Amino acid sequence: MNKVLLLDFECRPINICSWKRALILLMKGKAVNARRLNDIDSMIRIENILIPNVIKLTYRLAVPYQELPFCRENILVRDEFVCQYCGKKFPADELTLDHVYPKSRLGPDIWENIVACCRECNQKKADRTPKEARMKLLRRPYRPKDYLMFELKKYPEHIVRQWLDYFEAS
Ligand SMILES: [Zn+2]
Repeated sequence: MNKVLLLDFECRPINICSWKRALILLMKGKAVNARRLNDIDSMIRIENILIPNVIKLTYRLAVPYQELPFCRENILVRDEFVCQYCGKKFPADELTLDHVYPKSRLGPDIWENIVACCRECNQKKADRTPKEARMKLLRRPYRPKDYLMFELKKYPEHIVRQWLDYFEAS
């Protein structure tokens, strides 16, 4: 988990990058340590090099809008690995994706129509709508808005905690 939060010139979070990329940016003078205090807890140690876990670009950059990829992993992360029918949490490989409005009836492949679903619930629901199957969705599926906030869900809490200040400030 040697990842670095990258801030733009105005100190707004723009990306999460590898320590290698961070090191290159720092060495080229394209980025600097974003923290005023150099405390050891906010450094990543790679052999005998210390890399700050938040860096800031030294130049202005127009950041293009990033669309969150629509894929199985991101749907499972959005639904927090919880079957959206029975409410139980499962390991990723025990979850399936369910088309709320069935695929067999041309239910579309979109964020708003796909949910994490355990095998048992998927079998039970089969090619029916939740109403027909008398199964209730925990919540209506949605398209996550903020790309970077969403990416944070994939990182351990102790790392996110060190980055969160920069999100709240922006
Ligand atoms: Zn289930």
